[in-house]
Amino acid sequence: MMKNKETISAQQPKSENIAWSDSLVAAELRAGLMGHKPVTVWFTGLSGAGKSTIARACEVTLVKRGVKAFILDGDNVRHGLNSNLGFSPEDRTENIRRIGEVCKLFTDAGLIVFSAFISPYKSDRNLVRERHPAGGFIEVYVDASLEVCESRDVKGLYRKARAGEIPEFTGISAPYEAPDAPELRIKTGEKTVAESVAEVIGYLEANKYIPV
Ligand code: ADP
Repeated sequence: MMKNKETISAQQPKSENIAWSDSLVAAELRAGLMGHKPVTVWFTGLSGAGKSTIARACEVTLVKRGVKAFILDGDNVRHGLNSNLGFSPEDRTENIRRIGEVCKLFTDAGLIVFSAFISPYKSDRNLVRERHPAGGFIEVYVDASLEVCESRDVKGLYRKARAGEIPEFTGISAPYEAPDAPELRIKTGEKTVAESVAEVIGYLEANKYIPV
C-alpha cells in the first residue's frame, strides 16, 4: 500500500515545542491498584469473522468478574472521533491510528481494552503495537474464510458489496492482510462463540493479565 508523507509522519507532532510529560504515577502502581495488567486486546479480521461478538462477550465476562474492561467497537467511533474519515486506504490508516492512540490512553489509564476493527493493513496494526509497551498489545486474528463470513453476512454488507453498492469493501474490493505472528488465532468457522471467548480469557489468565 502506498502511504503519503503525512501518514508516515503522523506519529510526530505537527508543531514544534511540544514536549511529552510522563504521569507521576508509575504504571506498576496503577496496575497494582487495578488488580490486573492493563493491555490492549486487538481483534482483527474480515467483516463477519466474529470480532465484535467475541470482544463484547470478553468485555462482559471481565466486568462481571470485577475487572475494569472496555470495548471500542466497529462503527461506533465512526460516529464521533472518526466521523470525518471514509474507507480510502489513507482514511483507514488514520482511523486505525486514532483508535490505537485511544487504546493506548485507556491502557495508560489502567484498563483492559478490547478493540474490534477490521484493521486490514499489517503496517497500521504494527504501528499500534509499537505505540504500546512490551506485553501491552495482544493481536488476535479472528480467522474466518471469506466464504464463511459471506455466508453469515450478519449485516447484509457482503450482498451489497457484491452488488457493487459498497465500494472498497474488505475481502471483495479492498485487501485484507492477515497477521504473520498474532498472539492468538481463533478459527471461528470451527468453534462456538463460547469456545472462542474462552480462548481469549484463557490467554489473559495464563499470561497473568488477569487473576484466575
Ligand atoms: P465482526 O465484528 O468480525 O464483523 P460479528 O461479531 O459482527 O463480526 O459477527 C460474527 C457472526 O458470526 C455472529 O453472528 C456470530 O454469532 C457468528 N459466529 C459463529 N461462530 C462464531 C465464533 N466462534 N466466534 C464469533 N462469532 C461467531
